[in-house]
Amino acid sequence: MKTAKYFFLFGTLLLFAAGCQNDKKTASKKVKEEKPTKVIEKKPLIGYGLNLDDFSIERDTVRSGETFGSIMDEKGVSPAKVYQVTQHISDSIINFRRINKGKPYIILKNKDTTETSRYFIYEKDRINYAVIDLGDSIKGRLGKKPVTIKRKTTSGVIKTSLSQAISDAELNYILASRFSEIYQWSVDFFRLQKGDQFKLVYKEKFINDTVYAGLQEVEAAILKHKGREFYAFNFEIDSLTGRKDYFDEKAKTLRSFFLKAPLEYSRISSRYTRRRFHPVQKRWKAHKGTDYAAPTGTPIWSTADGVVTISGYTRGNGKYVKVRHTNKYTTQYLHMSRRAVKKGDYVKQGDIIGYVGSTGLATGPHVCYRFWVDGRQVDPYKQDLPDAEPMKEKIKPSYYDFIEPLKTKLDKIKYIQI
Ligand SMILES: [Zn+2]
Repeated sequence: MKTAKYFFLFGTLLLFAAGCQNDKKTASKKVKEEKPTKVIEKKPLIGYGLNLDDFSIERDTVRSGETFGSIMDEKGVSPAKVYQVTQHISDSIINFRRINKGKPYIILKNKDTTETSRYFIYEKDRINYAVIDLGDSIKGRLGKKPVTIKRKTTSGVIKTSLSQAISDAELNYILASRFSEIYQWSVDFFRLQKGDQFKLVYKEKFINDTVYAGLQEVEAAILKHKGREFYAFNFEIDSLTGRKDYFDEKAKTLRSFFLKAPLEYSRISSRYTRRRFHPVQKRWKAHKGTDYAAPTGTPIWSTADGVVTISGYTRGNGKYVKVRHTNKYTTQYLHMSRRAVKKGDYVKQGDIIGYVGSTGLATGPHVCYRFWVDGRQVDPYKQDLPDAEPMKEKIKPSYYDFIEPLKTKLDKIKYIQI
């Protein structure tokens, strides 16, 4: 759907460009007559490294069940030629066995009476394409559409949810999810409050300077949550690998050793408490965990790096997984529909260890998340939990230099008034 929309846009742009060409043609004629020395030549329509004016252009998308062979057959290319093409062109340019349904392609036909199909252009994604020359000497090449990066700034206010705020500001949903990823350790995103505000400095990619082609990065952000401002700056911490991460204005990492929650949940159905009425057992007992309600099959993540110590089943817990993170911390995840790890597996923070279910003593699909510190069960929401790896002291000066202009830029953006 998205691709279709984009290609509609792209098509429209080309048409628009073509329209301009005609205008220029008539205009140049007039100019020519008046001032013969200043000839304005008609600019050729260039695309995919070809002069598109030389051809008639047929755009289409690969339909269900279509193959390269069937498409070529429809465009009047002989089976012998198709065979030669598949033999000549390497898989690195196009894997003809993997021509995907829904992918756009273009056939360029000669403008003469033969209307021979001369080029097959396959759009691998919004930016990358392959051009196959179907002429006497078969050739193939890869190309990229010219991409420009534009820096943008924005601000918004939370009325009901972050996605609502992002859509109010007419921003992309990818931006909303990237934004929530940045703060997933420092702010519980499901408890963002009405009136919380944000500001963003980000970069977007555009093809031919106009067609949106995705988010490049969120360079800097502020989230004003409960009146407190949380800054975030994306900084390259490893010049060899190019790895980037977010830090605040004091060079403190935004990451912490534990994620705030082990899944993307719809609500907390029961918090840690010393005493509650058990819905299944129908008696008062302590609930030493946090229950997150979510649909069956929702992935459950390990909240920190660690080693799986139990991947098993009991009548009460149902299918469950236990992870030891350090000598100090252990977490446990209950009532899974399916487990995704074995005892002894090493897991990273955010790795999927199982899926939400309602096995064991459970009234509906949820995960019961349990947390131990030094062998004692506690409420993780009431713990002062450790940060992830801090920034190295020696790179801090360059970090402060890096964020200074970004911080000024952020501070200059005005909050949307509530
Ligand atoms: Zn529970």
